[in-house]
Amino acid sequence: METRTLDVVTTPEPIAELDRLGDEIAELAAHLDAATAHLLDLIRDFDIREGWNTGFRSCAAWLSWRVGLGPLAAREHVRVARALGGLPRLAQALARGELSYAKVRALTRVATAETEEQLLAVGRAGTAEHLERIVRGWRRVDRQAEAREAARQHASRALHVYRDDDGTVVLRGRLAPEVGALLLQALTAARETLYQRTRGAEPEADPPTMAQQQADALALLAETALHHGMDPGTAGERYQVVVHVDAAVLADADAPGQSVLEDGARVPAGTSQRLACDASRVVMRHDQEGRMLEVGARTRTIPPALRRALHHRDHGCRFPGCGVPFGQGHHIRHWAQGGPTTLSNLALLCRRHHRAVHEEGYQVDRHADGELRFRRPDGRLLPEVPPSPSVPGDPAQILRARHDAEGLRLHARTAMPGWLGERLDIGWAIDVLHPLAQR
Ligand SMILES: [Zn+2]
Ligand SMILES: [Zn+2]
Repeated sequence: METRTLDVVTTPEPIAELDRLGDEIAELAAHLDAATAHLLDLIRDFDIREGWNTGFRSCAAWLSWRVGLGPLAAREHVRVARALGGLPRLAQALARGELSYAKVRALTRVATAETEEQLLAVGRAGTAEHLERIVRGWRRVDRQAEAREAARQHASRALHVYRDDDGTVVLRGRLAPEVGALLLQALTAARETLYQRTRGAEPEADPPTMAQQQADALALLAETALHHGMDPGTAGERYQVVVHVDAAVLADADAPGQSVLEDGARVPAGTSQRLACDASRVVMRHDQEGRMLEVGARTRTIPPALRRALHHRDHGCRFPGCGVPFGQGHHIRHWAQGGPTTLSNLALLCRRHHRAVHEEGYQVDRHADGELRFRRPDGRLLPEVPPSPSVPGDPAQILRARHDAEGLRLHARTAMPGWLGERLDIGWAIDVLHPLAQR
């Protein structure tokens, strides 16, 4: 005991050694942060160029599948990568290893081009924990401003309708954004209904202008609303699609025949196969002479008990890397081709991937061992878990060498906060920093 105490006092070698170990951790962490900046650059580029759009729902879903990041971490990587595209100062600070990824992640939740500079200074001075608290306070001020703005928009909603001297009716108004979106969607649908029906006929000598088409669309909306007694219907009915499809087309997408929606819009055979696949939709099959063969393929609907068993077995969409918890029952062999509605012939797919399988050339089949195999349109296998890339023996050394070559001198104090231990007054910090917080 005595010799050890003496040892520490005279030669503080173990402490010096731990200091070196700490420095090594800090230096390597700075290297990893600088490399993360590079990784985020690549992700941003991949995202913009939609490299992930090969059957995946999003860049994050692809990243989670390909790299093995948790879904939340994958979404955060994509969010931060996108945000840094417009925040060059924060991006540079990360690339130079001066700000940790955790700090940059927190700051990108609130930073804008206008506030980036100030927040960068905060990021340099404070610890990661300070930043989390400052960002939380900052968002509270942002949310209050947002809530005020939404309340203002709601209060300013108005529709003025009055009759002009010549008897025409004049409209002027203002709608909240989501109500406006609903109206625009309805107008677009009505316009398409009106002007798709006349398409294919003689080209009109004097085609209506966009403004005239909008007026006609509004008239159709009014008629439809009155006709249906102002009943918006249940959610299921509202989105119900009626497909008229020739029996041959349903069995074989390449067969000649019609495949149209109720409003006359022609749809690809693959689409009508998908809509009929989980036949909770109304499908009318026709024979060669156009006679109705079968009304309401509701009879093909997967019975509730089977659907429960399907959900229980598959949990969610079975497409590699997806796992969305709800979906449609896909007949691996279509019922129009004689495939049975049984558990072994069904697989749960989300809407996105049901489309991928019916309309984008992706293939799925079940092997003898009961496992599903997905293939890309080019026939290549799409594995559930991709093989990991081979990593060289000492990746840290490679990072150091690359950063040295880029002239980046990283050391144990590169990312050290300027904070000297004083108490953090969040309220004061937000008041001083946030542009909307001036009282
Ligand atoms: Zn299907
Ligand atoms: Zn899916």
